[in-house]
Amino acid sequence: MSVKVRFAPSPTGFLHVGNARTAIITWLFCRNQNGHFLLRIDDTDTERSKEEYEIAIEDGLQWLGLNWDEKTNQKNRTVRYEEIIEKLKNDGRVYACYETPEELNLKRKSQLSRGVPPIYERPDEEQIQKYIDEGRKPHWRFALKPEPIEWEDLVRGSVSFHGKDLSDPVVIRESGVPLYHLCSVIDDVDYDITHVVRGEDHVSNTATHIQMFEAIQGKAPGFAHLPLIADIEGGKLSKRLGSLSVKSVREEEMLEPMALVSLMSRMGSSDPIEPMMGLTPLIESFDFSKFSRNTPKFDMEELLRLNSKILHATPFDHVNVRLANMGLPDLDEEFWNAVRANLVRLEDIKEWWRVANGPVDPVIDDADFAAAAADLLPPAPWSEETFKEWTGAVKEQTGRKGKELFMPLRKALTGMDHGPELPVLLPLLGPEKVKSRLMKKAA
Ligand code: GLU
Repeated sequence: MSVKVRFAPSPTGFLHVGNARTAIITWLFCRNQNGHFLLRIDDTDTERSKEEYEIAIEDGLQWLGLNWDEKTNQKNRTVRYEEIIEKLKNDGRVYACYETPEELNLKRKSQLSRGVPPIYERPDEEQIQKYIDEGRKPHWRFALKPEPIEWEDLVRGSVSFHGKDLSDPVVIRESGVPLYHLCSVIDDVDYDITHVVRGEDHVSNTATHIQMFEAIQGKAPGFAHLPLIADIEGGKLSKRLGSLSVKSVREEEMLEPMALVSLMSRMGSSDPIEPMMGLTPLIESFDFSKFSRNTPKFDMEELLRLNSKILHATPFDHVNVRLANMGLPDLDEEFWNAVRANLVRLEDIKEWWRVANGPVDPVIDDADFAAAAADLLPPAPWSEETFKEWTGAVKEQTGRKGKELFMPLRKALTGMDHGPELPVLLPLLGPEKVKSRLMKKAA
C-alpha cells in the first residue's frame, strides 16, 4: 500500500506555527515513505475563507521547503458532497434535527444539573412532527452507532471510544452548508488517503469520523494525532505564540525557514533538536514511534539559537540575493564569512555593514588616549587576533584595563557603546578607517 497523506488547512487566517508543525511532520512522514502529498484547502466556510490566506498558506509551505504533489479545494466539490450526503440520508445515517441553539443549550444545562453527560438526545417522532408543523428548517446530524470505536494511533497508541458516549455530530448547517466533518471524510475516501495526521484537538472528531468512513466505504485510514504545542511554561500557547504565523516568523522575526523546520520536526520526539541545513536528514530519520504524547514546549530562545547556528553555517551564495534585496549589494563573501558567526538574525548584518562602512560619528571622550591608541596600531595585514595584540599594547602603555580600556575604543570605532564584536570588526575596518576614527577624521 503506498502512503497518501493530506495537509488540510482552513484559509481563514495565516498559517501559524502549530499548523506549520502538522504540515512539516505530515510531509516528513510522507517523503520518508515515498508517499503522495495532497494539499487540501478546507474552504467550505465561504464567509470566513479568503483567497489571500490561501495564497499566504501556500507561500508559507513553499518557504519551509514543503512541496505538494496535488492540490484540491473543498469549495469545488460540493456536488460530490451532496451525492454522498443523499446516500447517507437514504441509509438513515444523516438525519434532520430541528432544535434551536437556545433549546440545545437549555437541554445541555438540564442534563448537567441532573449529572447526566451532555450528549445529544434524538427527539421522538412526535416531537419531530411538532417542529416540522411549526415550519422549522432543519440542520442535520450523523447518527452514531452505540458501539465501540477503536484505533491504533501512530502517536497515541490504542485509543478507544464508545458511540453511546458521543453526541451525533452536526454535519450540515441549517443554511444547507455541509460542515468540515463529513466533507473531510468524503475527501479522505475519494483521494485514497492512507494516513490522517493532525493535532490531538481532533481525537474525539476522529472517533465520529471512523463511523463515517465505515458508513461511506467500510474502512477508515490510519491516524496520527500530535500533541498540541505549549509555550515554555507549559501552559497553553500564549496569545503571542498562539498567533505567531509563519508569515511573521519570516517577515518580522526575519528567521531562516530551516530554523523553524529544525525545531518543529524534532520537538516532542526522542531525536535531538539540531540546526539542520536541509530536509534530507530529517526525512531519513523520521519515525512516528519517536514521538511522545507529552506536550512539547515552544521556546523562542531555542528557535533563535537554531537560527544563529544555521546562519553560521550558511555559505555566501545562499544569502547573496537576500543581502542584495536588503540593500547590501556590495557585501562580499569575505565580509559574510567574517561576521556570520555573530548573527542571530540575518538582519543583524545591516548594523555590522553600517559600522564597517560608515557613516559613523566617532565618540571620543579622551583625545589623548585615542591618539595614543592610534599610534599603537599594529601593521597590516590584520586578522581577528589583531585586536588582542593592539589592546595589549594600549593596556601596557596607558595602564587602562577592562571597561576603561575597551569602551573608549568601541565608542571611537563605532560611535556607540554596544554593537559588533570588536576583534571581528577591526580587520573589516582596516588600518585607515580605524586610524581616522580614532583621530575623529571623516572616514
Ligand atoms: N481544516 C481542518 C483544521 O484545520 C483540518 C483538520 C484535519 O486535518 O482533518 O483543523
